[in-house]
Amino acid sequence: MSTALPFPRASVLGYPRIGNQRQLKRAVESYWSGKSSLEDLTETAAQLRRDTRSRLVELGLGKDDASIPESFSFYDQVLDAIAAFGAVPARFASLLDDSGRLDLPGYFTVARGKGEDAPLEMTKWFDTNYHYLVPELGPDSAFSLVGTQYVDQFNEAKADGFVTRPVVVGPVTFLALSKAAEGAPANFNPLTLLPALVPAYVSLLEQLAEAGAPWVQFDEPALVNENLVASGQELREAVASAYETLLATANRPQIAIAAPYGGLEESFAAVAATGVEAIAIDLVKGSLPDATGIDLSGTTIAAGVIDGHNIWRANLSDKLAILERAEGLGAAAVTVTTSTSLQHVPYTLDAEAKLDAELKTWLSFAEEKTREVVTLARGLAEGRGAIEELVTDSRTALDRRESAPGVNVAEVRAATAALTATDFDREDAEERRAAQATRLNLPPLPTTTIGSFPQTTAIRKARAANARGELATEGYEQAMRDEIAQVIALQEELGLDVLVHGEAERNDMVQYFAELLDGFAATENGWVQSYGSRCTRPSIQWGDVSRPAPMTVRWAEFAQSLTRKPVKGMLTGPVTIMAWSFVRDDVPLRETANQIGLALRAEVNDLEAAGIAAIQVDEPALRELLPLKKRDHADYLDWSVGSFRLSTAGVRVDTQIHTHLCYSEFGEVIDAIDNLNADVTSIEAARSRMEILPELADAGYSRGVGPGVYDIHSPRVPSVGEIQELLELAVKSVDPTLLWSNPDCGLKTRGYDETVASLRNLVEATVAVRAQQSEA
Ligand code: GLN
Ligand code: ZN
Repeated sequence: MSTALPFPRASVLGYPRIGNQRQLKRAVESYWSGKSSLEDLTETAAQLRRDTRSRLVELGLGKDDASIPESFSFYDQVLDAIAAFGAVPARFASLLDDSGRLDLPGYFTVARGKGEDAPLEMTKWFDTNYHYLVPELGPDSAFSLVGTQYVDQFNEAKADGFVTRPVVVGPVTFLALSKAAEGAPANFNPLTLLPALVPAYVSLLEQLAEAGAPWVQFDEPALVNENLVASGQELREAVASAYETLLATANRPQIAIAAPYGGLEESFAAVAATGVEAIAIDLVKGSLPDATGIDLSGTTIAAGVIDGHNIWRANLSDKLAILERAEGLGAAAVTVTTSTSLQHVPYTLDAEAKLDAELKTWLSFAEEKTREVVTLARGLAEGRGAIEELVTDSRTALDRRESAPGVNVAEVRAATAALTATDFDREDAEERRAAQATRLNLPPLPTTTIGSFPQTTAIRKARAANARGELATEGYEQAMRDEIAQVIALQEELGLDVLVHGEAERNDMVQYFAELLDGFAATENGWVQSYGSRCTRPSIQWGDVSRPAPMTVRWAEFAQSLTRKPVKGMLTGPVTIMAWSFVRDDVPLRETANQIGLALRAEVNDLEAAGIAAIQVDEPALRELLPLKKRDHADYLDWSVGSFRLSTAGVRVDTQIHTHLCYSEFGEVIDAIDNLNADVTSIEAARSRMEILPELADAGYSRGVGPGVYDIHSPRVPSVGEIQELLELAVKSVDPTLLWSNPDCGLKTRGYDETVASLRNLVEATVAVRAQQSEA
């Protein structure tokens, strides 16, 4: 091992990589569309990495002490590991060169698919909004170090005079997040591949040591997640065996194991027992571990006290207190870091000229958080006195936050405090069904869509022009009404039964509501990576939430005025609004959920009063907010389901409540879906060929269900035969009187050509199955 450079006193676990102006997104997409060359893209990326390193030094991190994380990725950090360790699925074998290496174009192909070759599946990264690509492994998967990006980036930094710290998804987490490849035995457990994978990581250690890297960071967040297939015990055993080999590597950098997104708890002992040189623990979601009887004399604890996953300014005094307690653990050293990578927060508040000045003093984005880390490290080293002024500043800001107008609103609190069980309940489901059948008078297997129709360039242009002040609001709204009229006419022509207005006026299904509710603020440049080149700009929920005025009613009313068929009202549910925003951290999530629930309830009731007979409240994020610790599930499911029920339970017996969830692996949340108590639930089902229906029935779900009959994620037009086959499968496992026919999800990302053709086939297939049913 090289001379032991101590773990840096101040560090961050990872940094945003999309660029403060989303330069990486632009460069990648421009390359994809053939408008710029591969060299342009790699040059932009290198420049971004250089800018990040020098900026982090300006913010106070050390230039040559391994405090700067080397955490760049062209698309995704898990895909980076797949490429580096030669774990590309067989269907992409033709993309590899003789030594098994994937070039950058090939890397993008694995991420995005090509022709018949489906891309890797994408799924949520822990409890964040970031999506990673899922490795596909089988009993025969082999690994070796073929990619050189980690060492290349370290060397690139070194050439500029930096000594940085490569950040790599750890071997245990890599396997724990993998799925069985097609053709692998159904019960195949990817963790059994550990002995095959670890030698590839050993090669990486040797390569990095050769290059002179003093530290490497292996991210092992699987250790904090109790929702994985592998049990905590299995993961701890895997850690013990993997790191025994890694630490025995003769020539290697020092290793830091990072465990972001939650407390390590009982796994702390197992990690410490490996003898790894540093452990980065999350002290925002988790608390200080119990180190009784654990020898930490050779271990640095990197205390993750600054929240990498939310945007609130830290109370430095409280954080110092935690750090001081951490010093009592008996570790070789305590250093300061973030709880997670900062990839989940925007770059800087400096880019937010329009954000309320007072609100800004309560916030901290990646740059500001880096400064907080540096300040705390100084306080820890030199004593509180050295940072007294900054500690006072943070306390003053947070005191002002507590008493600022809008943060704690008496009427809002009174309304949530007055809630009783009846506010969450509706009439018996059978009674509702009968009343709704009379009112809506629908054919069997009613056809509908999930809400949005294509967001055309014309719509986006009109919105942008309106935002720039070039198109007056009157003109913009007229354009939206024209769009709605076309969407209604199209659905009439296609013969759909329950229509939608198409959501043309919505920039985004959460931001639209956040902009109209009190208690939320929007940023101008607060982009965070969602997946690949896709970025979102989450709103900031900073205060008590209420609805100053109706939000969707005039659009729904206008749409309904154009047709005799029912038009579904369309809202985003409380949990999804919360999941896709930065939520306040000073009240329980349940309180915020109920506040949003009440605001939506008023909207639902107004839609009903305007004559809307069916109202859909989307909750696609219900599953993603599921806490990583099992002991927190019951409470979460109680408040999340409760807030949905609160928003929908104020309607008449004959108003039909729909919900939509866009995934098909329900597992832990299947009972919750039943408990939502919606009259109709639409779900993704085409890719899994209706597999979910018997599962739903087993869970006791017995109300209306709309399993998606075609996948909207690709522009392919499903044939009548295909859709008919899926519907025939569906009527086998669900009472046909409960069944609806609809696509898997909203159509906003699709073009009109494929949308019209697909919906035409959907209606034709449904009519055919109806005829079979009436004969039977
Ligand atoms: N109503 C939304 C739409 O159709 C639902 C989108 C979603 O589930 N993500 O776009
Ligand atoms: Zn969906």
